[in-house]
Amino acid sequence: MKAIRRFTVRTVLPDSIAPLARLAGNLRWSWHQPTRELFNDLDPQIWAQSGHDPVRALGMVSRQTLERISSDPDLVGRIRSLDEGLERYLTEPRWYQSLGEDAPRSIAYFSPEYGISAVLPQYSGGLGILAGDHLKSASDLGVPLIGVGLLYQAGYFKQSLSRDGWQQETYPVLDPNGLPLTLLREEDGTPARISLPLPNGRHLMAQIWRADVGRVPLLLLDADVRGNDDAARGITDRLYGGGGDHRLQQELLLGMGGVKALRVFERLTGAPAPEVFHTNEGHAGFLGVERIRELMDTGMHWEEALTAARASTIFTTHTPVPAGIDRFDVGEVRHFLNAGLAQSVPTNKVLSLGAEDYEGGDPNVFNMAVMGLRLAQRANGVAKLHGQVSRAMFSGLWPGFDVSEIPITSVTNGVHVPTWVDPELTRLAQEEFGVGTVHDRDWTRAYEVSDERLWDLRRRLRSNLIDDVRRRVRAAWRKRGTPDASLGWTDDVLDPDILTIGFARRVPTYKRLTLMLRDPARLKALLLHPDHPVQLVVAGKSHPADEQGKRMIQDLVQFTDDPEVRHRIVFLPNYDIAMARTLFPGCDVWLNNPIRPLEASGTSGMKSAINGGLNLSVMDGWWDEMYDGENGWAIPSANPRDGIHTRELYTADQRDDIEAAALYDLLENTVAPLFYGQEPSSDAGSAGPSEAPADALPHEWLEMVKHTLAELGPKVSANRMLRDYVNNLYRPACQSGRAAAADQYQAAKDLAAWILRVRDAWGGVAVEHVDSIGISDAPQIGDRLTVQAYVNLGSLKPTDVVVEAAYGKVSEADNLSDHQLLELSVAEDLGSGRYLYSGEMHIELAGPFGYTVRVLPNHPGLASKAELGLVANA
Ligand SMILES: *Cc1c(COP(=O)(O)O)cnc(C)c1O
Repeated sequence: MKAIRRFTVRTVLPDSIAPLARLAGNLRWSWHQPTRELFNDLDPQIWAQSGHDPVRALGMVSRQTLERISSDPDLVGRIRSLDEGLERYLTEPRWYQSLGEDAPRSIAYFSPEYGISAVLPQYSGGLGILAGDHLKSASDLGVPLIGVGLLYQAGYFKQSLSRDGWQQETYPVLDPNGLPLTLLREEDGTPARISLPLPNGRHLMAQIWRADVGRVPLLLLDADVRGNDDAARGITDRLYGGGGDHRLQQELLLGMGGVKALRVFERLTGAPAPEVFHTNEGHAGFLGVERIRELMDTGMHWEEALTAARASTIFTTHTPVPAGIDRFDVGEVRHFLNAGLAQSVPTNKVLSLGAEDYEGGDPNVFNMAVMGLRLAQRANGVAKLHGQVSRAMFSGLWPGFDVSEIPITSVTNGVHVPTWVDPELTRLAQEEFGVGTVHDRDWTRAYEVSDERLWDLRRRLRSNLIDDVRRRVRAAWRKRGTPDASLGWTDDVLDPDILTIGFARRVPTYKRLTLMLRDPARLKALLLHPDHPVQLVVAGKSHPADEQGKRMIQDLVQFTDDPEVRHRIVFLPNYDIAMARTLFPGCDVWLNNPIRPLEASGTSGMKSAINGGLNLSVMDGWWDEMYDGENGWAIPSANPRDGIHTRELYTADQRDDIEAAALYDLLENTVAPLFYGQEPSSDAGSAGPSEAPADALPHEWLEMVKHTLAELGPKVSANRMLRDYVNNLYRPACQSGRAAAADQYQAAKDLAAWILRVRDAWGGVAVEHVDSIGISDAPQIGDRLTVQAYVNLGSLKPTDVVVEAAYGKVSEADNLSDHQLLELSVAEDLGSGRYLYSGEMHIELAGPFGYTVRVLPNHPGLASKAELGLVANA
């Protein structure tokens, strides 16, 4: 029989163990090992059956068990002490509380997905995991963040395989009542709701679920409510489900509904209004439109409201892959806006925000990343290289500026260490260095750990992974229709003494899941090498609509099915956080081979590094800036890049051949021999294990592991990332936002009026003539050069602009590189808007030298010179 309705009965806990409800309800348990251990000890069997889900586990225990727990003084004591610990964690001052008054009182963080724990499957990959880690580190550091997102009824799909290795998807329906969520309610107990008008007189309502991620509340909007028609109820059916119209409505709900949800939350809890709004990728961009609507409802003009909202908004772009950017049909967006979503806001103004009105743009498209950039005074990419790539990619929005001046900075991603570091490694650090050090995650003392101890730990982590792999491989084969009787071989899959390489991620084409299959015979030889074999653990989900990705998975699965190699290479279906937490610690080497520079940052290699794994990666994303020659290996890229441009010397096929060959060479000649303590050799076969002393440990390898733990650990930590966001973006944005809002938004109004005036007058601004004085026929280093520029400012005043000389080395094509800037000052008012500017340059470089002069708008309310996209070059 099939039930027609399901609901979850919440357990009533006896008084003495009542704090269990809070310990289960606050997701801090997902990274707090002692709390997880408590839930295990309450009833190990149920803990396992629940999928390590405290809320579910509490729902599963019988009354008798609860009675037993409540009369066990040891357990009751542990529960009380963990609850007190949680209370301290939630209330005591942390890093952020040591900052001054200039730090924002509250920050709203918007993301379409959150990967916090396997029990809340509201993520598809890196973007969501990053958002989850962002919230967790914010909590650890006391950053007053509020997360905003959507609650998907089905979350992301579960992956399994057909007999012939084709990806199968199932969407388990979630019951929010069985998840660690509470419904936000009005004082009278009815669920709090927000509502958005839709075309044809329809309405989209949503209720608001609250998850607690340590100190950080996360609000999730859920459209599956009575009162919505079926189509509206389906809007939050699944993550990234459906086509354009469905997705557009999800994003309208996330952005506009999200701001409304925040207002409800403020009203019901007395929480302070966010002073900074941070949008994680473009999907939530409509939040800016809603904030503009709020301001325009108070009587401000479009330009004023835009100026005020931008001041406190941050946009983080996450992809250099155009397919990763949301682009909607302009007509579709207009259709929805015309329904009255933001009545006081002129529709054409909103449409102009997402317009690709630059060279190469598509006039029929509304681009969410472009809107994100126009609605945020500050923007960033997620690694240094990605910052560079993003500046080039979006340079069309700031014509006339050098790519290096495009106002997109970067904050390199990080990972939440307590979530991703293995408890066994934490225990080791605890025993070796004491509790305080572990708490601070200070791994610089990793060098003090003995080789024996570290090697023993690494082997244990590898064994843990292998146990998990065998279980998963057996289950996967059963699902593919093979009877148990033929699965005896799965007990011997992988070997705890063999170099273990991991590769797991989503499967978009650019990540090249199957690069390792480029030369199957060579891969086979590596796996079966007599002296230094390797073994591979591979996992990853393909987007359900991506046939090419599914074919790559199938190719890989079919390779792993070969009885000759199936004990050395496995594909594990259904990559998720639960698998990842065993996988990262268990791998000795983490492999990453995207097509450079398409991986914005990537974080999985970071999770490996904090567990003592060594990275073997293409120089892309985070690795491009953090590879130091001793923490892993760089796979060379075939096509050379100078700065931001790639010269396509090779076709895609040739490139893959070259890069795969480089990967095989590295594995065979460098990585594997080092792991087995053999001399690295280019002459394969000459060095055998017999040459190394019998029980010798691979000293050099272990040095690299210690170096990785000590040096890379702190750099890849999400705490470092959060501090960077706070110091480089949140605080400046808060300052701009406060300045704009002061005196009933007088500053924003003044700035908006100034911007309009400058835009209007800019056509009349020109550098008319430039002279240089003092240069001899044979200029030398140390010479001084006076520049005189005749500038027409039209109706603008010298206080509205800055006139500067850019000077330095020039290329043959007269392009300036690494230029310096010199601000010129007014030497003479020539009348009718014309001025003579001058300044003195010091020539400090030999070789070809050049300079130019330009005029830029100048106002203390601007965050960058390029902000308005206005420049008059000589
Ligand atoms: C870390 C992680 C990702 C993201 O990996 P990238 O290297 O950033 O692509 C995806 N899924 C899971 C389960 C992860 O743990």
